[in-house]
Amino acid sequence: MIKNIWGKSLRHKVWTYFIMFASTIILVLWLLQIVFFNNYYEIMKTNEIKKIGNSLVNQYGEEGFEDVLYTTSRNEGIIIQILNESGSLIYPLNSILDVLRQPRLNDAIFYEFLMNLNEAEENYVIYRKEDTRLSSPTLVYGAILENNRGSNYYLYINSMLEPVDSTVNVLKNQLIIVTLISLGLSLALSYYLATKLTKPIERITETAESLAQGDYKVEFQKGDYIEIDNLVDTLNYTTKELSKTEELRRDLIANVSHDLKTPLTLIKSYAEMIRDISGNNESKRNYHVTTIIDEADKLSHLVNDMLNLSKVQTGLDKMDFKGFDITKTTENALKRFKYFVDNEGFRFYIKSKGNTIVLGEETKIEQVIYNLISNAINYSTTIKEIRINIIDEGEMVKLEVIDKGIGIDEAELDSIWDRYYKVGKSHKRARVGSGIGLSIVKSILLAHKAQFGVESKLGQGSRFYFKLNKAGSLVL
Ligand code: ADP
Repeated sequence: MIKNIWGKSLRHKVWTYFIMFASTIILVLWLLQIVFFNNYYEIMKTNEIKKIGNSLVNQYGEEGFEDVLYTTSRNEGIIIQILNESGSLIYPLNSILDVLRQPRLNDAIFYEFLMNLNEAEENYVIYRKEDTRLSSPTLVYGAILENNRGSNYYLYINSMLEPVDSTVNVLKNQLIIVTLISLGLSLALSYYLATKLTKPIERITETAESLAQGDYKVEFQKGDYIEIDNLVDTLNYTTKELSKTEELRRDLIANVSHDLKTPLTLIKSYAEMIRDISGNNESKRNYHVTTIIDEADKLSHLVNDMLNLSKVQTGLDKMDFKGFDITKTTENALKRFKYFVDNEGFRFYIKSKGNTIVLGEETKIEQVIYNLISNAINYSTTIKEIRINIIDEGEMVKLEVIDKGIGIDEAELDSIWDRYYKVGKSHKRARVGSGIGLSIVKSILLAHKAQFGVESKLGQGSRFYFKLNKAGSLVL
């Protein structure tokens, strides 16, 4: 059943995202380390030389300046020179020969130096200079050292821009290792994570497959995350509800087939009796024919109720609400129970006071009253008294059907409204009704937005009631 579409699987997604994430970080590292490394190095070096040069300019004239020049040059590995206005070397003069010879900077270099210094916006200049004799370019810093001897000196600093290729190569090698390790790690980690993430889902799918095959005893196992736990809770709840419905369906089939079978058997056997025995005996034959008619009536009741339930549930949205007198409706409904008054000793007492014109669909409300009375008859024992009170409550009219029958256990009170529910599961043969009566009542009353309920005591009887809005009051 599980189609393993690799591209769409969670595992594949986790892998892809992880590898994309790792690759992005590695790419940024490569760019920073390798591509921008040269620029970065040059900027750093320029700042360094600028700092040294400016500091030297500030210290010019102070005692020990020459020592500062010497130590800075040695420590930083840079060439520091001081030139006079004609480009001759003032510092460093290493030997007496230098003093006499006064070595000069190459004219072209000195000229370039002066030009750059002239054009500089600050009082110093830094520029890059290619030196054909060296393998790498140099950085030159220049500044004017002002003195009060009439002619100024120039500070000339020259620093090699070290070739960074070898450093870049070392970095590259390191980065290759880092890349391999991080890709490997992210693969392993994403595999671990994906497995951890998908495991509970796969487990749920397996359980759901068993459920789909009709095993309602399955239990979905909780996982390591709240989200999965929530899903599992919902699925377990659904399974419970499904199994309830399944149980009810089985009960219904058992009950309905029982209800169908009993009258059918009776009809058949009475018909045979007429054929074989009572054919010519009028009083016997009449008795047998009446039984056949009664049983046929029961069958048609049952079929009608079943049809009603599905009709009620499909037709409730297009109901036509009108004002009608619920007392009259009740009297009409009661007429259908005349048989029980005449033959089984039932007594009905209707009490109705005040204005009992309500708003609703009369045929549906009559069905509600009929079902409640049917139940009252079915669940009455020795006291066959059924009271119907119709009470004007101002905005609303309340109708109660009260019997003195077997009553309902408190624990069952909420469930009796469920479709196919039967208290205690014992199925007695109903005088009328079909076992879906209260669910029809509930559907109709809900569609009327009516309040309804039941009060009952085991062994003492039940009081079913509902309240409808009066016609004329603001409704729905
Ligand atoms: P049915 O009465 O055919 O079983 P209903 O949906 O009408 O189906 O009622 C559901 C259950 O509620 C009944 O099986 C019965 O146990 C209980 N019940 C309904 N009305 C009464 C009543 N008046 N007295 C006692 N129990 C009742």
